[in-house]
Amino acid sequence: MIYLDYQATTPLAPEAKEAMLRWLDGPDGDGFGNPHSAHRLGRKAGAAVEVAREQVAALFPKGGTVVFTGSATEALNLALRGCDPVRAGKAIAVSAIEHSAVLNTARALRPDCTVLPVDRDGLVHPQASLPEGLGVLSVMQVNNEIGTIQPIAELAERARARGALFVCDAVQAAGKMALVEADLIAISGHKFYGPKGIGALWIRDGVELEPMITGGGQEGGLRSGTLSPALCAGLGAAAKVALEGMDEDNAHAAAMFARGRALFAGWELNGSAIHRYKGNLNIRRQGLDVSRLMSDVRQVCFSAGSACASESGKPSRILAAIGLTTEQSRASIRLGFGRYTTMAEFEEGAGLILEAAKGQE
Ligand code: PLP
Repeated sequence: MIYLDYQATTPLAPEAKEAMLRWLDGPDGDGFGNPHSAHRLGRKAGAAVEVAREQVAALFPKGGTVVFTGSATEALNLALRGCDPVRAGKAIAVSAIEHSAVLNTARALRPDCTVLPVDRDGLVHPQASLPEGLGVLSVMQVNNEIGTIQPIAELAERARARGALFVCDAVQAAGKMALVEADLIAISGHKFYGPKGIGALWIRDGVELEPMITGGGQEGGLRSGTLSPALCAGLGAAAKVALEGMDEDNAHAAAMFARGRALFAGWELNGSAIHRYKGNLNIRRQGLDVSRLMSDVRQVCFSAGSACASESGKPSRILAAIGLTTEQSRASIRLGFGRYTTMAEFEEGAGLILEAAKGQE
């Protein structure tokens, strides 16, 4: 099996697995403590959580706090639902290519929220028109379907100049590039070689939030519930490894991206070739029947447009937002690769896809 779906999820880094095992039971059976208990076992687990919090904090800008959550979806809900401007009824603006975690939450909060368009390259214009009475602008750093990198710094600056908060979904950027100054930033463990079931919200000092989950008051009262030291430790280790190996990981992804462009010569790239994370190759070939391709190439895990879109069978709203027709969108595939993809397996996977695509001509 060749795995080329790194935007959907990544394999667990061995370092993260190792760090987690210690806090599942530990070599002496002393790793299972409740990190919120005051006794010795609890304090040990609590200390592991704090080490992990520092490791995760190193991914973010200075001057904020990390709150652990169960996923990035939860982190984004906490950010959008819990912040003062939204609670005060102010306007929300989001980009047209946000993940459903942002778009559906924004729409649930403000059915009339402003949706900023993107151009053919899949980029929000830094000077995009913002609504009157803006309270929150939420734009992702890297898109999950087409990999485009948004002009976050400019947009954050404009939001700030209007007294609004800037929320950033950095799920596909974390561990791969510097995270840009925002007020609230969400990440997810399983997108950068950490475990599933844990995410984090970074909150700039001075930004006030109301919790969505109340109870025992853990995480500074912002997210009640017992933390899993194993998941926290896994996320911390994944952050450490990603920061230490960022240049190497990116060079490796860029080499496969370049090889992919050469192998798939004649296919169109969806989204900017320049403002792009290079572990994402979203391409299309006119007339391609992607459903057939996917059933013909079962030994390669790749995606049609996006994992969510392919499940629903609907054409991708992201590809529609960059101006593709339904037919073009249905003829698009996404190959995602990274740290543990070897060039040989990437080439083999690409070869199998190309052969099956040729059979459709
Ligand atoms: N935002 C983006 C850009 C994503 O790619 C995903 C996952 O697909 C999410 C948010 C949601 O992350 P999680 O799986 O941690 O809820």
